[in-house]
Amino acid sequence: MPEAASRPAWADIDLGAITSNTAALRELVAPAAVCAVVKANGYGHGAVEAATAALAGGATWLAVAFVEEGIALREAGIDAPVLLLSEPAISAMATTVAHRLTPTVYSVTGVHAARDAGAVAVHLKVDTGMHRVGAQPAWLAEVARAIVDSGGMRLEGFWTHLAVADEPDKDATTKEQLRRFDDAREVIAAAGLVPEIVHAANSAGAIAHPAARFDLVRCGIAVYGVPPAPALDGRVALRPAMSVVAEVTHVRRVDAGEGISYGHRYVTTAETTIATVPLGYADGVPRRLGVERAPVLIGGQRRPIAGVVTMDQLMVDCGPDAAVAVGDEVVLIGRQGDAEITAEDWAGRLDTIGYEVVCGIGPRVKRRYN
Ligand SMILES: *Cc1c(COP(=O)(O)O)cnc(C)c1O
Repeated sequence: MPEAASRPAWADIDLGAITSNTAALRELVAPAAVCAVVKANGYGHGAVEAATAALAGGATWLAVAFVEEGIALREAGIDAPVLLLSEPAISAMATTVAHRLTPTVYSVTGVHAARDAGAVAVHLKVDTGMHRVGAQPAWLAEVARAIVDSGGMRLEGFWTHLAVADEPDKDATTKEQLRRFDDAREVIAAAGLVPEIVHAANSAGAIAHPAARFDLVRCGIAVYGVPPAPALDGRVALRPAMSVVAEVTHVRRVDAGEGISYGHRYVTTAETTIATVPLGYADGVPRRLGVERAPVLIGGQRRPIAGVVTMDQLMVDCGPDAAVAVGDEVVLIGRQGDAEITAEDWAGRLDTIGYEVVCGIGPRVKRRYN
């Protein structure tokens, strides 16, 4: 297909930001190392590009959610160690090993499958309170024994995952998870296993809980320059890597008292200029942002979305005198002049987190790298 500019709308990805965010995290957590988490297409930034930029910033590990995501990194020629964050299905273990992906294991069946597939190293995960995946402490001795009995498979890593590291008022819960993690290390030590690498922290853990850094931190959101929670903003110098920009495709004058978009939930109070922008909820711009009258930037100024966001387009109220024209730049997330809108700003309006905003920018939006 030709690269027709059929729609002037892009996600601009600042790879330099990913590199410098990774370097800043590495400096913060040293001597611990950084594993850059690039699951979900690098949180929407492009997995291969994000991985390459993070490795340039000093990450020494990568992590993904699924085997297919790991294979995509290998097929792009990325050679760094890649950790799978969940235990692969038995049927996927052979491909896991063939692509030199490092499986996480937490069941006896998983350990046997890894052994049978010829894995040389595994990371064992224990559930210390997230209750998503991981060996329950009660099963741990048995899983550890299976690794010992596997004959030669290295326990390269031992890890857990924190549930509330981004909430400063829940420090006691994080401390309790780390205490259970210590107990779990004693259990595997009693089975004769000494892991080479111990890890527990996500971005919030890495930033807010020095005791959780151990040998390696698994950072996703912070690598992309989005603070894991508003309370953790400013603790380390991060720069947002993703901007969402478009051009005005249509402009019209609308009389006072006219309803805009489906349902006419926005009614003009004076004659005004309405600009149309070619991005919609199918691209990850939530419909509710229009209900909330969230701003976009045009001409360096904040102007509210007028009416509900539609599937492919949204409208902006540019005010009575606006000299807005077709082709003008519209910034939905990012900077224009001195003004800035962040993924966190959207998240605040939508009662969600910055993660969901950046991961939600859909595949129809072309990524431009710089
Ligand atoms: C996604 C994920 C991470 C990264 O979390 P961030 O909060 O984005 O840093 C780390 N560890 C596990 C197990 C994950 O699933």
